[in-house]
Amino acid sequence: MLTTLYPWQTSLWQQLCQQLQRNRLPHALLVSGVKGLAKNSFAQHIVASVLCLNRSEDQSACGDCHSCQLLNAGSHPDHIEIMPEEAGKQIKIEQIRNLRDKQQLTPSVSQWKTIIISPADNMNVSSSNSLLKLLEEPQQNTVLILITGHPENLPITIKSRCQNYHLLSPTTEQALDWLSKNSDNNLDSETMAKLLQLAKGAPLTVVDMMNGSVVEQYLQVEQDFNLMLQNAVNPIALSASWLKYDLITVLNQLQYMIRDRMIKSVSNMPNNTIESAKNSVYWQISDCIVKVIKLVSSQNNINNTLLIEDFIVSVMRITNSNPTN
Ligand SMILES: [Zn+2]
Repeated sequence: MLTTLYPWQTSLWQQLCQQLQRNRLPHALLVSGVKGLAKNSFAQHIVASVLCLNRSEDQSACGDCHSCQLLNAGSHPDHIEIMPEEAGKQIKIEQIRNLRDKQQLTPSVSQWKTIIISPADNMNVSSSNSLLKLLEEPQQNTVLILITGHPENLPITIKSRCQNYHLLSPTTEQALDWLSKNSDNNLDSETMAKLLQLAKGAPLTVVDMMNGSVVEQYLQVEQDFNLMLQNAVNPIALSASWLKYDLITVLNQLQYMIRDRMIKSVSNMPNNTIESAKNSVYWQISDCIVKVIKLVSSQNNINNTLLIEDFIVSVMRITNSNPTN
């Protein structure tokens, strides 16, 4: 499997190439970044190159040596991947313990041994402690790559022992350019930019959105939101309609839309009393959205139907006393 290097990965890739050339690879790398930046594919690209017996001048894997062939077949003896045994479950302590036993072995095909743990934040305390021991006793010629979309959930003791490889989302312009060349859709760039905002700037998440029904959903929620600000919705019907979607995605979209309105209204201030009244309404609505996001994300057993109905009624009450249009 020859992995693609995406344009937003090139600067970190160059950093790794320099370390490879100088034979100064760190023992542990923490590859982080939001969903949709191809973190796993980036880690695979690093592994292929580190293990390759005949790297090309740009440090990429050759694709044909014995190591590359074994890796493509998924049977490279010097490479281990650890992930939860079942989707959504945590990585077990036995998986990390087995890793510690195998780590004692010397590489048999390549010069290096590589390990990928993904998602690295998906571990309980005992697995994390076992991983920490592994990081405290680094073996020669071993590169451990931890992948996470949530580095804030990893213990500091683990993070501090890894070199940080944080993938940044490309700029909107770069992302739109990539999307126009790599996806076949007829969306206008304004809609695409809005989807990109909802995807936290990650182009591959936008590709997923375009392949699914998220675009339709996005446009529907946008229309609902505008009607809600005009007090022209039925809270019960609207709540039922939003509950068919992923609620956090809907709420994030509302937050972005209200933020956009705030920015526009601020640029029309100061000394404009109508705009400053609108701005204060947007702030109040934004507070309501933040509160609902917190409640929906909490582990508490909450009745989402009542919560969203109540939210819609509150927003309508705010806009009713201070019209925004
Ligand atoms: Zn090779």
